[in-house]
Amino acid sequence: MSQVSTQNPYNQKKLKSYKHISNAELNKAVKLADDTFGQWRHTVFSERADFMLKLAQLLKNQTEELATLMTQEMGKPIKEARGEVKKCAWVCEYYAEHAEKFLADKIVSTDAEQSFIRFEPMGAVLAVMPWNYPFWQVFRFAAPALMAGNVGLLKHASNVTGCALKITDIIHQAGFPKGCFQTLIINHEQTTELIKHPKLKAITLTGSAAAGRSIAGQAGQELKKTVLELGGSNAFVVLADADLDSIMDTAVNARFQNTGQSCIAAKRFIVEAPIYDKFLSLFMDKVNNLKFGDPMDEDTTIGPMARADLAEELFDQLQRSVKQGAIIITGGVLSKNYFEPTIVTNVTVNMPLMQEETFGPVAPIFKAKNIEHALNVAAATRFGLGVTICTENPEAILEQLYRFPDGAVFINELVKSDPRLPFGGTGISGYGRELSQAGILEFINQKTVFVKINRTLKTNAFMV
Ligand code: NAP
Repeated sequence: MSQVSTQNPYNQKKLKSYKHISNAELNKAVKLADDTFGQWRHTVFSERADFMLKLAQLLKNQTEELATLMTQEMGKPIKEARGEVKKCAWVCEYYAEHAEKFLADKIVSTDAEQSFIRFEPMGAVLAVMPWNYPFWQVFRFAAPALMAGNVGLLKHASNVTGCALKITDIIHQAGFPKGCFQTLIINHEQTTELIKHPKLKAITLTGSAAAGRSIAGQAGQELKKTVLELGGSNAFVVLADADLDSIMDTAVNARFQNTGQSCIAAKRFIVEAPIYDKFLSLFMDKVNNLKFGDPMDEDTTIGPMARADLAEELFDQLQRSVKQGAIIITGGVLSKNYFEPTIVTNVTVNMPLMQEETFGPVAPIFKAKNIEHALNVAAATRFGLGVTICTENPEAILEQLYRFPDGAVFINELVKSDPRLPFGGTGISGYGRELSQAGILEFINQKTVFVKINRTLKTNAFMV
């Protein structure tokens, strides 16, 4: 039987090995999920909410242990890991409070005696998840799915298998039945088989565009619903009227938090010519103050990249851009998993740094001739997660929102996920939404109910 291993990206020490489960075990897990769904779907919202609030409390109580595990497996600075655990507790509380309202029967007046929409869960949903926010990505799927009455099967990224098992464990500690949520340690071939399984109803994937094409292609063959949260190349536009003093920390955070390994990170800085030099100088001062070190240290702000192959891929993107004329003004050195925070100028739109997703601490700073040029370059991408525009005249941008096909536009703020707001992309960044009411509706059958009879109904079915 094949296996996966985890290792600490900071010191390359091996952490643990895990065997892939057998196909028989996989089938058993799907059966358990489906059997559990048969009961779970009939539980009342208040019961689900009790478990969900207990889960939030457990996350808060165990923050240190959970954050440490994340930091050991994928290298994020410990302070950021703690923040991630807290955000998971928030999304649990959010859906515990709002799910019932989001999924209440909706009466629609028609020529029927009674017509309404019933929101029913679909069943077992497979979540294929990435390593970069190993807890948050899972919880933003799991909280709405479980509150809706669905059950989850998690195939997590191999390098965070310990996190995957811990997440399942804590969900069970909160009282959710075992079959409500299971981690499957499976390889890609087994994932393919699972997608074909008739009891598996839908798939959500957060990962690269390549994984999206593969998984959605397989799901398409089975005509199963998918939600795809894929990569991004967000523009961070700084217009000449921006208040630089108030946005510089945001700019640095937007690119370098999580060591630059975020789908919604600012990956293309586009700065209007009149303030280009000033922005660059302030940005460089702050970037040079980032502190690389052991991600377990409290004052570390840049950790190692999660995997050496990803660091090498980023280095290659940088080198290919340099060959096309890009100039590295700080950083640019790769040593094992440590990629120096890097700033690049003399950037043109066709360079790999502007065309491809760069998943690490490299910031290309493009000089735009004027507002039109800046907004055109920002929108000229196949990706579509989000865009940030820094300006003291947001009214002008609000009138031109149509220019950005992205899933989000943030003004004077970095693009971020928030349980209260829909999150997702367009173009090669994927489709479907997570979070808010939009997220909980993705794995729901919106059932139209229409009763025509020539008398008053004895019961109000929608009240059930
Ligand atoms: P990845 O290589 O695409 O892997 C993501 C997940 O998909 C992992 O669990 C991986 O499993 C699995 N996978 C990949 N190819 C597969 C296949 N053919 N069959 C079955 N499973 C497959 O991405 P990553 O390196 O973990 O994460 C980084 C990417 O995720 C970036 O592109 C980032 O932008 C994107 N991301 C997007 C969002 C969003 O919300 N839009 C959020 C976070 C990250 P293995 O580990 O076993 O290969």
